[in-house]
Amino acid sequence: MFKKREPACPIACKYCFITEDDQRREKLNNATSLWAINNACTYINWSQYTAAKYDTSELARLIKEEWLYDDIIGSTAVTDPFWPRLASYHDQWEEMTRDKARLRTSVTKWPLSRAQIKKIATWPRFHLVLTITGNDTLEKVKHVQHLRTAERLAQAGISFTVLIHPYIWGVSDLSFLKELRRLGIKEVSLKGLRYNSGLDQFIPSDTRQLYQIHKEQEFIPSETALLVQDYGLNLVSLKKKYREISYNYNPQRPKEFHESVVIQMLEVAQIFSSDRASIYNSLLIRRQGL
Ligand code: SF4
Repeated sequence: MFKKREPACPIACKYCFITEDDQRREKLNNATSLWAINNACTYINWSQYTAAKYDTSELARLIKEEWLYDDIIGSTAVTDPFWPRLASYHDQWEEMTRDKARLRTSVTKWPLSRAQIKKIATWPRFHLVLTITGNDTLEKVKHVQHLRTAERLAQAGISFTVLIHPYIWGVSDLSFLKELRRLGIKEVSLKGLRYNSGLDQFIPSDTRQLYQIHKEQEFIPSETALLVQDYGLNLVSLKKKYREISYNYNPQRPKEFHESVVIQMLEVAQIFSSDRASIYNSLLIRRQGL
């Protein structure tokens, strides 16, 4: 069970999205399936707590492999998928999704080793999202380590996007963006912060007051996009990026198959979107490649 003040992976973010938001932690602790869906992709969520209960080989039994066809499938979103302790789950996920998914993606803050990067380089139809925030005071892995990972990924020719998440006004230091430009990176993705009171002791009082007004709603100050552009970078949404990369993919299953699967998935999956009504359409559309 996820617990408050016990971050969900060794990156140990003070604001951990999984453990510090009471509603989200509760929702995840009560999950009855490993499926989770947002507007950009479908996740298979495993964690150290799944690993304590189920052997890697049981992953296939816990999820319907047939549902993996033609979707954009993310590895876990409730811990870091590159945490070596859970490597066998990530490997199993990669094998299961390889010939089925439109695109596979993992979001990480892990300082990837050369061996991990060498392995990823062999994964077809895979896009990595490397999170760099400039929040060095709030996370165990510092931006300098992330820049080293970005450089190695670029050298290995791996398809990846840098995600700034969460951008925290008055805390995040975006000066690392000039190093990304030096690496030839031209666009980044950006997400704001959903405030939780656990952050109070770690952020300046004027920052705290600004976020308290927006309560648990994700908030990005309007000038943030300009700040990113000042470094010569464009903003891109992950949803758009995933579609762009998988544009030439031809679905392996017909429309009727997807209509039936989407209805079944929505009955069991956890939905992570403020606009639940749009989830049916976005899930169906991305599986059909429309
Ligand atoms: S990387 Fe994600 S899962 Fe790990 S501590 Fe940070 S927010 Fe939590």
